[in-house]
Amino acid sequence: METKIKTLDGSGNDDIILREAADLIRRGDLVAFPTETVYGLGGNGLDPSSSRAIYAAKGRPSDNPLILHIADREALRPLVREIPPAAEKLMDAFWPGPLTIIFRKTGLVPPETTGGLDTVAVRMPSHPGAAALIRAAGVPIAAPSANASGRPSPTCARHVYEDLNGRIPLILDGGESEIGLESTIVDVSRSVPEILRPGYIGLQALRDLLGTVSVDPAVLGRPDEKTAPRAPGMKYRHYAPQVPLTLVAGPDEKRAAYILEKAQEAAQNGERTGAMVCRETLPLYQADEGDHLLLIPLGARACGEEIAHGLFAALRHLDECGLSHVYSETFEEGPLGVAIMNRLRKAAAFDLTDLA
Ligand code: AMP
Ligand code: MG
Repeated sequence: METKIKTLDGSGNDDIILREAADLIRRGDLVAFPTETVYGLGGNGLDPSSSRAIYAAKGRPSDNPLILHIADREALRPLVREIPPAAEKLMDAFWPGPLTIIFRKTGLVPPETTGGLDTVAVRMPSHPGAAALIRAAGVPIAAPSANASGRPSPTCARHVYEDLNGRIPLILDGGESEIGLESTIVDVSRSVPEILRPGYIGLQALRDLLGTVSVDPAVLGRPDEKTAPRAPGMKYRHYAPQVPLTLVAGPDEKRAAYILEKAQEAAQNGERTGAMVCRETLPLYQADEGDHLLLIPLGARACGEEIAHGLFAALRHLDECGLSHVYSETFEEGPLGVAIMNRLRKAAAFDLTDLA
C-alpha cells in the first residue's frame, strides 16, 4: 500500500484533505493525524475491524486498549454508562486538551476497541485539525499513538512515516506536536479518581480540582507482579532505543564527571557514547565533545515543556548515531517532571545510576 502524506496548512485546501481522510475512516481504513500531544493512528472506534486493523498496523498487543477521540461533549453520552461528577469537573477544566478520562462503557463500544475491558478511555483533543477530522468522520476516532509498538511516540509526520510506511493509506501532516508527551489518563470509574498515566496535566492541578487523587504505583516505578499497571499499555516495553540507555541522577558536577569518565573508558575501546543533557549543564560537557562523545541537548530543564517537546524525537535519533551507550540526565523537577521521568525510565528499561 502506498502511504500518502498530506499537509494541513490552515488554507482552504485543508477541508478537501480532511474530507478525504474522514471518508477513509468511515470506510474502515486508517489515517494518522496530528494532535496537541503526539500523532494518533485513527480508525472508526465503533467498528471492530477498524480496531483490529489498528493493532495490526502498529504490531500492538490486542489487550492494550485504544483511546476514543471525540470533538463534542454530546458525543460522549452514548459511549459511557454514567458521567460521574469528577468527570464533569475534569471535562469543564481540561477539555478540549491533553486529558483522557476512563469511564464505564456502554455496549456501543466494541470490546475490540477496549481490549476486552468494560471501561473506555475518551479524550477530546484541542488540535483544530484533529477536531475537524473527528467532526468530518462523524464517529468517535479510536487512536493510539501512531508509532510501531514499542517505539517512541511520533511527534511529527516523518516519525509516523518511518514506522508505518506501507501500512496505512494516509498521514496528515500538521507539523510538530505542541506538547510531545501523550495525554494524562485519569480513571473516574472508581470511588477515588486515579492517575494511570502522567502527562502534561499534572497531579497538583488534578488535586486542586478534585481533592483526593491517587496515583497508580506503576506510574512512578518499575511495574512488577504486585504493581501491575491499571492502564494495560503501561506494562509494555516502550520508547526504548536499540542502544542501551542509562539514566544518571545526582548533583550536576558529579554526574557530568561520571558520564565523561564512562565516555573516556568507552573511547579506549573505540566506542562512541551519547549524553542527553539540558541546556543548563551543557557547558560541563562541551570540552569533551568530539569523536567519542556526542551531546544530545534536550532544552532547558527550567522549562519542562521544552524537554517534553523534544524528548521523543531525541530518543528516536539515538539509534541513528552509531553510539554504543547513551547516558541521560534526569528531569525530576517542575510540574512535568513526573511525566518526563515516567517516559525516560521506560526508555532506559529502568536502568538508573543514582550518585546522590
Ligand atoms: P496510546 O493510545 O498509545 O496513547 O495508549 C493508550 C493508553 O491508554 C494505554 O496505556 C492504554 O493501556 C490506556 N488505556 C486505554 N483504555 C483504557 C482503559 N479502559 N482502562 C485503562 N487504561 C486504558
Ligand atoms: Mg502509545
